[in-house]
Amino acid sequence: MKYRSTRGQVSGLSFKDAVMMGLADDGGLLLPESIPTFDKEELEALAELPYTELAFRVISQFADDIPANDLKDLIDRSYASFEHPQVTPVVSEDGVHILELFHGPTLAFKDVALQLLGNLFEYLLKERNQHMNIIGATSGDTGSAAIYGVRGKQNINIFILHPKGRVSPIQEMQMTTVTDANVFNIAVEGTFDDAQSIVKEIFGDLDYKEKHALGAVNSINWARVLAQVVYYFYACFQVQKQTGAEQVEFSVPTGNFGDIFAGYIARRMGVPIKRLILATNANNILSRFVNQGDYSAATVNHSLSPSMDIQVASNFERYLFYLYGEDAARVNAAMDNFKQSGELTFSNEEIAEVQHTFAAASIDDEQTVETIRTFHQQTGYLLDPHTAVGLGAGHQVRDKNTPLICLATAHPAKFGDAVKLAIGNDPELPPAFQGIDTLEKRVQVLPATVDHIKNYVDQHAL
Ligand SMILES: *Cc1c(COP(=O)(O)O)cnc(C)c1O
Repeated sequence: MKYRSTRGQVSGLSFKDAVMMGLADDGGLLLPESIPTFDKEELEALAELPYTELAFRVISQFADDIPANDLKDLIDRSYASFEHPQVTPVVSEDGVHILELFHGPTLAFKDVALQLLGNLFEYLLKERNQHMNIIGATSGDTGSAAIYGVRGKQNINIFILHPKGRVSPIQEMQMTTVTDANVFNIAVEGTFDDAQSIVKEIFGDLDYKEKHALGAVNSINWARVLAQVVYYFYACFQVQKQTGAEQVEFSVPTGNFGDIFAGYIARRMGVPIKRLILATNANNILSRFVNQGDYSAATVNHSLSPSMDIQVASNFERYLFYLYGEDAARVNAAMDNFKQSGELTFSNEEIAEVQHTFAAASIDDEQTVETIRTFHQQTGYLLDPHTAVGLGAGHQVRDKNTPLICLATAHPAKFGDAVKLAIGNDPELPPAFQGIDTLEKRVQVLPATVDHIKNYVDQHAL
C-alpha cells in the first residue's frame, strides 16, 4: 500500500515512511492510495477472531511493508498493556451498546492508538538507526497517553509540557509518576495556550527541529487512525452476534475528527454501519457542518468534556478529500480559502452525501450532566462526560430500528468533576489510580518562555 497527501504534492510513500512523516511535507494529511474492502464471507470469518488477530488482519492491509511476524508482535505487545482480555469490550445497558475503549494504561481511548504508535516508532527508529525527541503540550489528557505510549522505549525521548497547577490532580499524577529515564515532564508557569504556543514556535524553528530530530504524536499520524479502525469491526461483530442485526450505528464523541474518521474508513472497508453519529459539545462546528453544511470556525468554549474543546478539527481534511472526489487541487484551494475566511461552503449534493454517511447533534454541559445522571439512575452505569455527549447525541438522532453502539472514550474517574455534578459524589477510583498519590514523581518546573524550554531540551535531548 502506498500513501499520498490530501494536497497532492507527496505520493508513493510506504506505510513506514508515512508513519515517520506524520504531517505530510506539503502541509496536507497522508492517506492510503486505495481503501481495501472485505466481502460478506470475509467479514464472517473476521468476526470469529480475538481482538489482536482481527487487528493484524485489518492493519496488515495497510502496512504490507512490515513482515507479518514483526507486525503481529508489535500489535500483541501494544494490546497486552490493556487490562481487559477483550481489549475493547462491549457492554449492553438499557437498549444501547457501550464500546469501552478505556481499559488501556491511562484509561482513555487514545491508548488504543498511542500504544501501537509508540511501538511502531521504536521499531522503525531501530531499523533506520535513528532517534527522535518528541515534544508536545497537553491540557491534561493526551499527554499521559503519549507518555505511556513511549515510556521506556529505545531511541526516543519525550518532553511533555503541561500548565502548572491547571490540570486535574489525577491527570498531573498520571504524567509525573512516570519516572522512566526517557520521559521529561515539564510544568510550565503559564496557561495551556502558553505551553502550546511555545511548542508551535519550537517546531517552527526548522534548524532546531532538524538538530534534535523533533517528532510529534498528535492525532494526524495515519497509524493512529488505523489503530482505531479495528474496534469498529470488533464492536460491530459483537453486537451483530448479540442482536442478529444486519447493520449498526455508532455514536462518536468528536473533537479532532480522528476517531470518527476511523469509523468512516471501517464503513468504506465493508463494516455494515448505517450511519455514524457525530457528537459534539458546545464546540459544534462539526455538527453544524453535518446538519447545515456550515463549516465556520467560532471561538473555543471550555466545557465539561475538555478533550473535545476544539474548533478546527485537524483530521477533517481527510474526509474533505473523499467528499471532493479525491481532488487534491480542490482540497488545497478549500484549505487556503478556510485559512483566509474561516469558513467553507458546500453544495446541496455534497450535503446530501454527508448526511447519507453521518448524522449529528450537539450536547451542551447541562445536557451532558443530565445524561450522566439519568443513565446512572436507570442502569447504575457511570458515563464519563465525553461518552455522555455521545450517548446524548445518539438518543436524539439514532435510527430506532438499528442497534446503537456508543463509544466510551474515557473512564469516569478521569473526569470526576462532571460526574460529581451529576450524581453528587466522586466516582470510585479504578485499581490503576489507587495509591498513585504515594508514588515517586519527576517533573521540572520552568518559566513559560521558548528559551527556557529550548535550553532544557538541549540538555536532555538524545
Ligand atoms: C481525544 C478525545 C476525544 C475526541 O477524539 P477525536 O479523535 O479528537 O475526535 C473524545 N473523548 C476523549 C476522552 C478524548 O480524549
